[in-house]
Amino acid sequence: MAEAFDPKTLAFYAAEASVYVKARPEECACHLSAFLDLLPLGGSILELGCGGGIDAAYMIERGFVVDPTDGVPAMTVEAEVRLGRPVRLMRFDELEAHAAYDAVVANASLLHVPRECLPDILTRIWRALKPAGWHLASYKTGGDEGYDELGRYYNRPSAALAEAFYRGAGDWAVYDVEESFEPGYVGKPSAWLKINARKAG
Ligand code: SAM
Repeated sequence: MAEAFDPKTLAFYAAEASVYVKARPEECACHLSAFLDLLPLGGSILELGCGGGIDAAYMIERGFVVDPTDGVPAMTVEAEVRLGRPVRLMRFDELEAHAAYDAVVANASLLHVPRECLPDILTRIWRALKPAGWHLASYKTGGDEGYDELGRYYNRPSAALAEAFYRGAGDWAVYDVEESFEPGYVGKPSAWLKINARKAG
């Protein structure tokens, strides 16, 4: 089995953290806003790969109890500066929680997990959710897994492969996927999968 994370990708974010966080538009994505409407008021949210903390700030402002995490120390520092509170250093493969969160949010972060390791990470996410808890994630899709021009790895699952991985990770009462075409940090706009799933109750 490959390493559960991609060292080159983590090295990119470590070196570029301060530049990267300034490049992302400040507003939070509308699919996150709609997702939060599904959650119990004041519910607990684990964020995986929080980057500079823009989404965490929005979720906190909406009244949720947020546990923002990232696997790169320099990113946790950037997020701490924005949020004014501690941000946990945690790689996805270090997630050990059981039935602890009402939601797990991973915006444009699980897309960096080596493809063969994604099933294990999704099992960890499923376990970390309370019964009937919700999960939101986005992935680049279309084409083969591989590296972009900046040296970041992308798993790029097709919609069918992503669904097979999610279904294999646990029992979901809801599994919805939306396909879109959007810009990223660099390069031309590309195809994305936005996955919204609910653990069986
Ligand atoms: N979610 C943020 C956003 O939407 O602005 C950041 C997205 S950025 C494309 C990906 C983030 O995932 C980076 O902050 C990176 O450090 C983090 N990341 C990548 N691989 C990771 C891993 N294996 N474990 C934890 N964090 C990881």
